[in-house]
Amino acid sequence: MCIFCDIINKKSPAKILYEDDEMIAFPDINPSAPVHILIIPKKHIKSANELKAEDQALLGKMVLTAKKLAKENKIDQSGYRLVINTGKDSGQIIEHLHLHLLGGKKLGF
Ligand code: AMP
Ligand code: ZN
Repeated sequence: MCIFCDIINKKSPAKILYEDDEMIAFPDINPSAPVHILIIPKKHIKSANELKAEDQALLGKMVLTAKKLAKENKIDQSGYRLVINTGKDSGQIIEHLHLHLLGGKKLGF
């Protein structure tokens, strides 16, 4: 279906940092910061525009997973940024919803 579905289905490789029934997390292949992890729902949701009320708990769990990974990567005190790019102007290139966890340096805009 898409490259992230292939990673979820273990058809493409990734260093899996976290996985449960609903989501998976792995390092970004082209990191923008010393810590750059993608948290991805296993459900193929194209973007935030396609989110439904039934996805509310899933999104909450993705943020809590990001918080856990931030602590594991020791950036919880120095700080981090959570980003969901959505659509053309945001620069979204993969059309499968993903939460970026960025940190480990002072982040610019
Ligand atoms: P976005 O611009 O929000 O769609 O971000 C997509 C991100 O996915 C980019 O930061 C890419 O570097 C990253 N990416 C693309 N393919 C892979 C892959 N196979 N494994 C890990 N990260 C990837
Ligand atoms: Zn997908």
